[in-house]
Amino acid sequence: MPHLTTVDKLAILADAAKYDASCASSGAQKRNSLATGGIGSTEGMGICHSYAPDGRCISLLKVLLTNYCQYDCLYCVNRISSNVQRARFGVSELAGLVMDFYKRNYIEGLFLSSGIIKSPDYTMEQMVSVARTLRDEHNFQGYIHVKTIPDAAPELLEAAGRYADRLSINVELPSRTSLSKLAPEKNASRIRQAMASVRLKLDEKKDRSRHPNPRAIKATGQSTQMIIGADASNDRKILTTSASLYAGYKLRRVYYSAFSPTPHPSSQLPPQPAPLRREHRLYQADWLLRFYGFDLEEIVAGGSKGMLDLEIDPKLAWALKHRERFPVDVNRAARSELLRVPGLGTRSVGAIIKARRHGALRLDDIARLTTSVAKVRPFIVARDWTPTHALESSGLRAQLAPPPVQGDLFV
Ligand code: SF4
Repeated sequence: MPHLTTVDKLAILADAAKYDASCASSGAQKRNSLATGGIGSTEGMGICHSYAPDGRCISLLKVLLTNYCQYDCLYCVNRISSNVQRARFGVSELAGLVMDFYKRNYIEGLFLSSGIIKSPDYTMEQMVSVARTLRDEHNFQGYIHVKTIPDAAPELLEAAGRYADRLSINVELPSRTSLSKLAPEKNASRIRQAMASVRLKLDEKKDRSRHPNPRAIKATGQSTQMIIGADASNDRKILTTSASLYAGYKLRRVYYSAFSPTPHPSSQLPPQPAPLRREHRLYQADWLLRFYGFDLEEIVAGGSKGMLDLEIDPKLAWALKHRERFPVDVNRAARSELLRVPGLGTRSVGAIIKARRHGALRLDDIARLTTSVAKVRPFIVARDWTPTHALESSGLRAQLAPPPVQGDLFV
């Protein structure tokens, strides 16, 4: 095997990690180097706020410890049967690289994942060692997200949680059947058991917040990722799985990652990538379920075979099917009604409720409090505004749908 420099390894292992979407850092515990005396902080802009052209977050150093893997998940570029160049970082080599990048201001933290070498326990130990070296030897106070290996011993997951801000365990696919077909070495029950054990530790930490245990986990949450479009699961199935994961394991986020074929793909996989727009619509629907008071049937109901409308966002799709619920009077409506108005987000609704205490709002006021008054206008009444016939118009959908973009022709 040719000798690889650290830079060579970085090129291979950062590229191999790019398919992982679950790297957002929101909700990390606030830490500041002025207070801790260490290096780095989790505060401020720049952590996971940059996105690659394909929409994936790249602002952390998102990297694999190694892309060797003894598993053969058909959708994964790093599977054992994949003919890709392999590389592996040493623990101190990767920790040194993170510190070097951090001091140069290239990154704000680390997202660490890995292929499975020797055994799940051995691999997890190596990943914990990277996080421990950063924290204990380099006094690194920046953000660390560790993608854990569900088959590893619970003590190792707990150890990872002592050094990382965020743990994630990928469920990979929306259904157990698809997982056993496309990732034969993985086990849906073990994945959920691992999530349950992390949840238990997070709950214990919360219960003991008044008497902190120095060995308690530091992580403030866990998340997971589902690959979309590698199997035949429709959006209803995907969102149902997400809902059960949020409820059962108190996940911070479920990330949706549109399937993208790897070189020399298996015939069991679709030949085409899943549309990125589908991933986007799932995120919007996920948000509606968690923060806007919608239930699943409202979002995926209709003759769409359990699929979300790709052309328009799910809230607009619902509003167009339920025109009898509009217009909503912005000066009187309850928060729950305002949240259902297309174009009004939770912040805009909060701002409207606050502003209307000081006097009846006009359309201009709403325009100042929202990002797109054109989208909101047909669905609201304001002091000087009542929509005339807009809600009956058969052209309303076309009028409000975003214009097609060139890329849509190919996705
Ligand atoms: S275990 Fe992870 S790295 Fe290995 S083949 Fe499966 S998805 Fe890829």
